[in-house]
Amino acid sequence: MSEFEWDQIDQVVDVYPPTYYENAKGQRWAVVGGKWYTAKPNITLEEIRAKWVKPSRPKSNIKDAIHSVKSSDGSKMYTVTVVNGIKSCNCTGFGFRRDCKHVRSITA
Ligand SMILES: [Zn+2]
Repeated sequence: MSEFEWDQIDQVVDVYPPTYYENAKGQRWAVVGGKWYTAKPNITLEEIRAKWVKPSRPKSNIKDAIHSVKSSDGSKMYTVTVVNGIKSCNCTGFGFRRDCKHVRSITA
């Protein structure tokens, strides 16, 4: 078990809310992020939480999506699928060129 000085750290990232452990002698350890931090005897949960940072989920700016796009003459619907940022369309033009106006009409 490695110990760290609580006062010397800026923040601790952890999904779980922090807690502290107190031994029989009144010594407290802040327990965050799977680590134990040596803390002052009277440290409070509020003080520990002040340095606690909840990790944000890694944001992917690309969303998988399915778009229905009308053909230019309005007679057909094409399906543009976006998976991992790769767009594809079920029209014949896309089948040949790997590009079409339906795919280009999707900007997201
Ligand atoms: Zn298309």
